[in-house]
Amino acid sequence: MSDILKRIPVLEQVAKARATNFKEVCLGYDADNAKAEALRCLECKNPQCVKGCPVNVDIPLFISQIKKGDYLSAYQIIRKSSSLPAICGRVCPQETQCESKCIRGIKGEAINIGKLERFCADYALNQDVSCQIPTKNGKKVAIIGSGPAGLACAGDLAKLGYDVTVFEALHKLGGVLVYGIPEFRLPKKIVEKEIVALQKLGVCFQKNVIIGKSITVDELFEEGFKAVFIASGAGLPIFMNISGEGLNGVFSANEFLTRSNLMGAYDKNSYTPIKAGSRVVVVGGGNVAMDSARTALRLGAEVHVVYRRSEKELPARQEEVLHAKEEGVIFDLLTNPIEILGKDGEVSGIKLIKMTLCEPDESGRCRPKPIDGSEYVLDCNTVIMALGTRPNPLISSTTKGLNVTCKQCIEVDEDFKTSREGVFAGGDAVTGSATVILAMSAGKQTAISIDKYLRNK
Ligand code: FAD
Ligand code: SF4
Repeated sequence: MSDILKRIPVLEQVAKARATNFKEVCLGYDADNAKAEALRCLECKNPQCVKGCPVNVDIPLFISQIKKGDYLSAYQIIRKSSSLPAICGRVCPQETQCESKCIRGIKGEAINIGKLERFCADYALNQDVSCQIPTKNGKKVAIIGSGPAGLACAGDLAKLGYDVTVFEALHKLGGVLVYGIPEFRLPKKIVEKEIVALQKLGVCFQKNVIIGKSITVDELFEEGFKAVFIASGAGLPIFMNISGEGLNGVFSANEFLTRSNLMGAYDKNSYTPIKAGSRVVVVGGGNVAMDSARTALRLGAEVHVVYRRSEKELPARQEEVLHAKEEGVIFDLLTNPIEILGKDGEVSGIKLIKMTLCEPDESGRCRPKPIDGSEYVLDCNTVIMALGTRPNPLISSTTKGLNVTCKQCIEVDEDFKTSREGVFAGGDAVTGSATVILAMSAGKQTAISIDKYLRNK
């Protein structure tokens, strides 16, 4: 392959070293490499990459600014469509979005759009770009949840002059960006910088407030909020309902990652109550499973990912699967748990069965079927269930007139309005577990709807 067809390589920590620390794996491009990668872009007249981006970032235009060395202009172009470029540049599944449509990718390797976005965003965050404080219009809006949906909506409403308060149940702000996605993939300081930028815009954050317990949505209206945006995510874990799930040593991925990320297990100097043991089994094949597996590995365990389909069907990002393998995570594919075994109330092993793939099911993926007589036991100390999540029903059950689906997702119309006057919802709370960019996009669109609603009121 000629040089122009190949990507400029991105520096990463070497696998052996990074498997023992929580520092960011990918080190990103420096200015010279970013320019060299940008020069590969054809600046297509009909750029397919833009159509592949869920928020239609003007990719060729921002790349053209990198070519000129004007990184701040490149950043401003991205910011027109995306509120969180440093985060999306790191965690968006670009390989199935913009990069999968890149015309350069037909004959060679697609432009590394994600890493270029990350480069511009990091450059701008390090410049401490000043922002204009908007004049307040005196109207109060409450946002429930400080994940990407809540943050994006808060920023856009604050810029329009609204008096925005974000209520967060946890003691740290950022939603899944801080409690779920580990430090080695998304450093917490990046999320903190985005939050400081929102504070400078005048957004007020109240931590440790659980809407539905500390205060209800109805009471928020009584306190003078004119509109409420529910961006509470989908944090309720799903289990398999197999025998042994109540044993000590069985975690949901959310609990395991929250304990690690928010109780500091990634910092060798801090105390953590997680006891991973010498062998950990992670059940599932998505990003959450990869994050759990790579976290357990860094805590010193031998880690097995148990997934019932084959490698081709793994829903996790390719980059995460590759990184997990390089670091030494063992993949037990076409395998499913049937029972968790225990001794004196603690996990001692997991009974697994081999699977085979049959014809595709309604999801279009091949249906896995157990192979009779193929059961075996894998000794282990910890089992982490990473099988998906759904919205917590706390808010819907304590808010009058709020319609939800059978999966507890909040029902909204095309303007993100719920069945309750003045209440809007978006992100994972509406879609179920999805992606950062979709949650952020829902937050931005809701800000437009809330503004329209309050102007007409
Ligand atoms: P969240 O990020 O879940 O934020 C919701 C916030 O609301 C939380 O802080 C929660 O504490 C708070 N909250 C909940 N209930 C209440 C209440 N009653 N009162 C007050 N506050 C409340 N997506 C990607 O695009 N790429 C990835 O690589 C990726 N990796 C992931 C890894 C993990 C481990 C997980 C769990 C998810 C991952 N995702 C990834 C999915 C992505 O993070 C989510 O789709 C996204 O964060 C959803 O954003 P949100 O704002 O809707 O909700
Ligand atoms: Fe550049 Fe690829 Fe987009 Fe064409 S499709 S403008 S080559 S990033």
